[in-house]
Amino acid sequence: MSSKVTTQNKNTYLGAIEAGGTKIICAIATPQGEILTQTRFPTCDPESTLQEAVHFFQKNLPLDSSLTSLGIGTFGPAGVNPALPNYGEILATPKQGWQGANLIKPFTNAFPGLKITIDTDVNAAALGEGINGAAKDLDSYVYITIGTGIGGGVVINNQIIKGHLHPEIGHISIHQEKSDTYTGACPFHANCIEGLASGEAIFQRWGQKAENLPPEHPAWELQSTYLASLCQTLTAVLSPQRIILGGGVMQQSHLLPLIQQKFLTKSANYWQLPPDYIITPKLGTQSGIIGAIQLAM
Ligand SMILES: [Zn+2]
Repeated sequence: MSSKVTTQNKNTYLGAIEAGGTKIICAIATPQGEILTQTRFPTCDPESTLQEAVHFFQKNLPLDSSLTSLGIGTFGPAGVNPALPNYGEILATPKQGWQGANLIKPFTNAFPGLKITIDTDVNAAALGEGINGAAKDLDSYVYITIGTGIGGGVVINNQIIKGHLHPEIGHISIHQEKSDTYTGACPFHANCIEGLASGEAIFQRWGQKAENLPPEHPAWELQSTYLASLCQTLTAVLSPQRIILGGGVMQQSHLLPLIQQKFLTKSANYWQLPPDYIITPKLGTQSGIIGAIQLAM
């Protein structure tokens, strides 16, 4: 095994990491993007977690080969603009110990010359769904994950949207229903979509996790109302060809039809969109790592 810079006689491979708030997925792929091996382990403190990822690549790279580039899709907020000094750093996260963590150095120390591309986990998942998933053959779409928190990646004209930072779709303000007196799960905003409709919000409001609430529970009426509002906002601002709703909360199969129905009512068929405009992901838990390989490519 070697971690030296590529030479012409060596086989070369791509590395990919999906760094989530609770788990990390690492993969080694061929230059064409075919996954050779992958692993997952819990996200602990930054030092031991990133070192475990380094060890995965060192142990699993085929003999006499080298890692040429690494794509990382990370939880945020994170520095994703290569022109800024905070590129590759975790920014103001409430996640213990991770603020200021540098995602680049452990890998360039172990693999000198390694080219690293960093983006958010949701942007990576959006890219993945565009390769061979729910957005295949589309050039403009949005991927939203509704789990413990809410995040989203946006692809317009085949380009991931980034600006000053990266989109923070979870913090879009939503009109709160009068009947809903819950104060919100977001420590920053009273009525953002993450605060009102994330898995954490469901748990705090109803005292139970989403997967334990039966389909007839009033939670779903409220949940679908808020997510339909989010889809209406995204449609008005971005005009995507499709909105993909993923994450643990969306695994309750009765939720998607409720959102689709409420979206139609709210938007009054103004946009005349196709029936499969709002759908769930097709790559399941693989969209993020497949997107991270795409970043490496
Ligand atoms: Zn917020």
